[in-house]
Amino acid sequence: MIVLGTQSARYSGEIPVFERRAVRASTDPYRPEALRKREAFLVNGDSVPEGFGWYIFVNRPVTAVNAPTIELPSDFDFLADGDVLRLTPTKNSLRVLFRRNASVNSFLLTERCNNFCLMCSQPPRNVNDGWIVDEILEALPLIDTDVPEIMFSGGEPTLLGSRFLDLVRACKSYLPRTALHILSNGRSFSDPAFAKSLGDIGHHDIMVGIPVYSDLAHVHDYVVQADGAYDETIRGILNLKQTGVPVEIRIVMHKQTVPRLSALAEFLTRNLLFVEHVALMGLEMTGFTKANLGDLWVDPADYAEELKRAVGILDRAKIKTSIYNSQLCLIDRSIWRFARRSISDWKQEYMPECQSCAVMDQCGGFFSSAELKYSSHIQPIPC
Ligand code: SF4
Repeated sequence: MIVLGTQSARYSGEIPVFERRAVRASTDPYRPEALRKREAFLVNGDSVPEGFGWYIFVNRPVTAVNAPTIELPSDFDFLADGDVLRLTPTKNSLRVLFRRNASVNSFLLTERCNNFCLMCSQPPRNVNDGWIVDEILEALPLIDTDVPEIMFSGGEPTLLGSRFLDLVRACKSYLPRTALHILSNGRSFSDPAFAKSLGDIGHHDIMVGIPVYSDLAHVHDYVVQADGAYDETIRGILNLKQTGVPVEIRIVMHKQTVPRLSALAEFLTRNLLFVEHVALMGLEMTGFTKANLGDLWVDPADYAEELKRAVGILDRAKIKTSIYNSQLCLIDRSIWRFARRSISDWKQEYMPECQSCAVMDQCGGFFSSAELKYSSHIQPIPC
């Protein structure tokens, strides 16, 4: 697991006065002079080029330079050229906002949400966190333009209203070759005007990932703990598609959703056949899941057949389908081709049982939080 933040960064030198600032990290000693002032040079040898705004020393002694320095522990050895960092000198804090080498980088836009899902991995908080939008607007221009994809998540990003749309516009302007994946509960798009506003931006490669947990409204509303959410979500999906915005359906598999997984698959093929992608996702043992484990936990081995049935229904209807966050030894071999290595590298782990497994390099493994609970049927696949 990679550590992305610390409260014990040691700032030294003449620190400019600000609360927090986004800077790009560089290892390029030939970086154009005009860019250096806004960047932090990652010192990795004896030669230290002049002109950078900051110098970062990871697990090495600080040498004399003509700019503020930041000392970090060896946990931050992974820092690389093109990473974007948030500096908060007054709190000795540093956080990695964007990692150039990560397969996907996710930006949390707000902690607020109008759902209260039983298995929420980021429990919502009703806080005034508008500063996050400012920070992301500051960070987006620092991201290299050849990055394949970034993700917006929450909370519920669309609760930001026009500021959410500002962020999408900024992605379109600053990252014209980068796909944008937005995780939303879809409810705000039940307002046709809001859905149209997103479509009108004309982002070159956007996808909105929206959870639908059941073919039955009351089951979905129970999972998200919000009466009437299902109707708004389905209307939101229809409005988005009407305005030309691609939609992905995301289904988290747990005790409340797996009994009707194939019924949900049937529902999708009959009513939402036009969606671009369906992702069937294993449970992450974090956030509210820990508190609601009794209502949620079911051993993936026990729903393997139902998963196979649901995938078959979606595949036969030609809906692009993926299985996320699941282990190959718990999935029928006939549907292995749908399994993706979806867990972000910074929180991906394998269990001791996996060490002799012949397909470990193809298996997505576990969230690091799975140590709390994972299947008792993990079986290394023999060569
Ligand atoms: S034993 Fe481990 S690596 Fe192998 S398929 Fe199962 S979970 Fe994946």
